[in-house]
Amino acid sequence: MQTDIHDEPVNLGFGVQFEPDDLYRLRSQFLPLGKIGGKPSWLNPKNLPKSADLLCNVCEKPLCFLMQVSANGGINDPPHAFHRSLFLFVCRNPSCSRTNDAANLKAFRCQLPRANDYYSFDGPMDPDLDGDVADPRAPADGPGLCRICGCSAAKKCAKCQVARYCSQAHQVIDWPAHKLECAKAATDGSITDEPKNPRNAFCFKEFGVEIDQEYMPANLFDGLSDDEGDEEEEEGNDEDETEEEKKARIREFEKFVKENKGKNADMTKEDLDEATAEQPKDIDFDKFNRLVNLQPDQIIRYKRYGQPLRATGLSELPEVVEPCELCGAPRRFEMQLMPHLLSLIDVDAIGQSIDWASVYVYTCSASCQIADDGYAKEFVAKQDFL
Ligand SMILES: [Zn+2]
Ligand SMILES: [Zn+2]
Ligand SMILES: [Zn+2]
Ligand SMILES: [Zn+2]
Repeated sequence: MQTDIHDEPVNLGFGVQFEPDDLYRLRSQFLPLGKIGGKPSWLNPKNLPKSADLLCNVCEKPLCFLMQVSANGGINDPPHAFHRSLFLFVCRNPSCSRTNDAANLKAFRCQLPRANDYYSFDGPMDPDLDGDVADPRAPADGPGLCRICGCSAAKKCAKCQVARYCSQAHQVIDWPAHKLECAKAATDGSITDEPKNPRNAFCFKEFGVEIDQEYMPANLFDGLSDDEGDEEEEEGNDEDETEEEKKARIREFEKFVKENKGKNADMTKEDLDEATAEQPKDIDFDKFNRLVNLQPDQIIRYKRYGQPLRATGLSELPEVVEPCELCGAPRRFEMQLMPHLLSLIDVDAIGQSIDWASVYVYTCSASCQIADDGYAKEFVAKQDFL
């Protein structure tokens, strides 16, 4: 009998900090459960997304690897998806981060059968047993990787023909470091081992990912229905206001002041109440807050075929998303990124950085086969707090 997936708990992902000497554990040959920042640990290390597929839809510059998660074991997944991972990329440019618009983000799905060219039938290499060694599977005929972003690199440094880049933009970033070894590389072909490169300013700080099930108390949403919500408001109980609610109210007030500039010089608390009174109560936001407050460090909520947790009811989230371009099967919700991820990767300066309330990833419900077991683009939506 099939279990009702809606009754199953949500899996929460958390960032795990590693000592620099232990970051090798997140490399591709060990098939990490998940990874944030640094360079991608590609599941299929050979047939990577093309550089042209990894450009921002707003500024058309290369996207930056954000995070990946190993997400196999779906109840209906076919044998060609024995291994299955999702990869997310985001544009580094804050001005590409637009309200309720995911044009600065891309998600990819990659899958491999159990018998494949890159991982043993019995599982990946073991970081404890195999240690910090270069990836022995690095395909000689595979794509070079960009020294800055770790993505497919079709371009080479013209001087040494050794250092590889996805784009001229990344060659420029690397030049101050690379010029010290470019001449030597030109004569003997040697170059600093890519994984030992110090972290560059383009990549986000690197973390592992740990997964845990969410425990939700039965009475968590008590008092959140429309009626009771109104009662609370009538009582005017300001002390119950959370920090986020207060911020939202202040932002609303500032907007009101801006819009009414010149009409009314002195604003009082009564004006604030009046200005915000017409705002519908955002029950989705309250639910979101209560759930997040149970585990404030959550960076991912993962529930395949489940329902997304809406961050706010004040903006739309698509009820139905485009079906899979490859096989035509409907796309279903799989996971969402939470606001805490922003502070983990140090981009949470208000108003001047990449931002989201939540990022929602929808994937092909059939986990259909991808040409060359490569990477297929999936659907991303974004909600912001206004
Ligand atoms: Zn951009
Ligand atoms: Zn690059
Ligand atoms: Zn060079
Ligand atoms: Zn499909």
